[in-house]
Amino acid sequence: MSDWSALHSVAERVAQLRQEIPDRTRIIAVTKTVPTHLMREAYAAGLRDFGESRIQEAAQKQQELADLTDVTWHFIGHLQQNKVKQALLQFQWIHSVDSLALAQRLNLLAADLKSPPKICLQVKLRDDPQKFGWNGKELLKDLAALYDCHRLEFKGLMTILPIDLSPSEQRVVFEETAAIAQHIRAHAITPLPLTELSMGMSDDYPLAIQAGSTMVRLGRIIFGERNNFFSQ
Ligand SMILES: *Cc1c(COP(=O)(O)O)cnc(C)c1O
Repeated sequence: MSDWSALHSVAERVAQLRQEIPDRTRIIAVTKTVPTHLMREAYAAGLRDFGESRIQEAAQKQQELADLTDVTWHFIGHLQQNKVKQALLQFQWIHSVDSLALAQRLNLLAADLKSPPKICLQVKLRDDPQKFGWNGKELLKDLAALYDCHRLEFKGLMTILPIDLSPSEQRVVFEETAAIAQHIRAHAITPLPLTELSMGMSDDYPLAIQAGSTMVRLGRIIFGERNNFFSQ
């Protein structure tokens, strides 16, 4: 692995990631808490996908960055029912759809949109009280009802690993996620076209890519530690 501490600028880090990450895997720059001047650096380095986890924070930044018209905005945080309308207006992708009730509400409120929202279903394949999402069995049980949400463009599965897994366990969970997506595409009675795998963050993205990730969500490895921004 490269020595990231030697790379100082966002541009250098993006260039390094580009070399490491295959073309089939899209880099989502996770910009929660990141100031917009650094987001502009990421944009200048060629990134066009920004991931945010708070509606309010994102709204502010979207206003400041309104001149960057070809950015795709990805919502990656836990979405509350009362924020669904706003999320649909601000984001083209929602990676963190973590319950049937949320999917159904998105489907209801998507009626007024020009283009359907792109959706990833969030799975949680290991117990983790900090995280939301379906386990494999629950997801298969809800599949028929999800299939009826015709206004949503189902794209893939998303997962966030628990923090305490060993690398070999991380690999297994990523591979299980890929296998569930494959099963739902190919063998389910109500198949969904889940071709995207939104998995891999700064600490685990190489393993996620080996397991077939198509979208890595990278924050700290591009922008540095999040708590450093307050001093800037
Ligand atoms: C913060 C966050 C990331 C990015 O994490 P890093 O460790 O900074 O790469 C990715 N996905 C989600 C859902 C996040 O909340």
